[in-house]
Amino acid sequence: MKKIAILGSTGSIGTQTLEIVRSNREELEVEALAAGSNVALMEAQIREFQPRIAVMWSAEAAAQLRVRVADCRVQVLQGMAGLLEIAVMPQVQVLVTAIVGMIGIKPTIEAIKAGKDIALANKETLVCAGHIIMPLARERGVSILPVDSEHSAIFQSLNGEPAGRVSRILLTASGGPFRGYSRERLAGVQVEDALKHPNWAMGRKITIDSSTLVNKGLEVMEAKWLFGVEPSRIQVVVHPQSIIHSMVEYIDGAVIAQLGMPDMKLPIQYALFYPDRRAMRDNRVDFFKLGSVTFEEPDMETFYGLKLAYRALEQGGSLPTVYNAANERAVALFLEHRIGYLQIPELIQRCMEHHTVAEHPGVEEILEAEQSVYDYIDRQV
Ligand code: NDP
Repeated sequence: MKKIAILGSTGSIGTQTLEIVRSNREELEVEALAAGSNVALMEAQIREFQPRIAVMWSAEAAAQLRVRVADCRVQVLQGMAGLLEIAVMPQVQVLVTAIVGMIGIKPTIEAIKAGKDIALANKETLVCAGHIIMPLARERGVSILPVDSEHSAIFQSLNGEPAGRVSRILLTASGGPFRGYSRERLAGVQVEDALKHPNWAMGRKITIDSSTLVNKGLEVMEAKWLFGVEPSRIQVVVHPQSIIHSMVEYIDGAVIAQLGMPDMKLPIQYALFYPDRRAMRDNRVDFFKLGSVTFEEPDMETFYGLKLAYRALEQGGSLPTVYNAANERAVALFLEHRIGYLQIPELIQRCMEHHTVAEHPGVEEILEAEQSVYDYIDRQV
């Protein structure tokens, strides 16, 4: 029996992780769950999966939950202290980090120190703290198992080949709903348009990020840390059908790809059972229905959020944190209809230009850089 804990259990990745548990009851057991404020769904999850610990971020949500689950054996904790407690629970073997935001960094570090494998969905962890996380994971001998479909595809395509044999990582992107748009056309994009992803059903923030290609920028950053490949050897390839989830080109020119339906359950399950595979129903690619797959170069001039990501990654230090934090705030403002669509990359660029880069930031410096970006944006909008 593999024992797992999930940070962000009420979200898109969290609920799909629980679907995998539901289909593999005799092999997976949930020890702990954490969420922000969705008390009703957390209550339902506690009743179904019976974890030992449940964490809510706010004190108010934790108090409400305690009343609702008073008849269950679960211990309800709150805030960062609760997340850190989950991270080091002795029974837990794999921590699924499906929380949004930099809040995921500290629990992930503590879990690695406690020897837990990490099934990693939370992008901010590697984007902002890859220079801390990866050496620590190597030192403690724990696995960082990618949950993101692209990174899972690269991981599966690498299949243990040494880094020296890899020529390039080919990171695929759907291109989002605005592929082919000019900047003038993008200026008129509304929240409702940006929330319609052509292929994937995901949380709101990541759906906006997919439309701006900032999500791909964050994935390039994650790929560098996960696979130890320099940014110049990570090529984004637009592939609108989202069937090839990414590829690895080897030094002899061979390209190995992983294909599958656009469904996050496959990469989540792969991370949970790695290096094994488990059967999964209803997710087969019908090649005859699909007909053709196509490829394009990304338009990094119109969607310059992706170009800024390469710049942030090349300069490194605290700049990826600034890129991520500026995007996070800008997307939140866009979702609140307070800024226009094109202001998202504009704000990222302005914050990057305004920032003085710290070379090897520790966790506190990362969090300070995040806060200073928020303050800077809030003064402007
Ligand atoms: P969602 O917004 O759907 O879910 C986020 C989860 O985090 C919810 O359970 C939420 O709880 C919880 N949460 C938010 N803030 C806190 C907090 N302060 N303390 C504890 N829990 C908190 O996000 P996604 O599932 O879409 O994404 C999660 C992460 O995975 C992100 O980093 C994303 O970039 C990454 N990812 C997502 C993919 C996808 O397909 N969705 C694909 C690849 C990566 P509540 O519901 O109570 O607010």
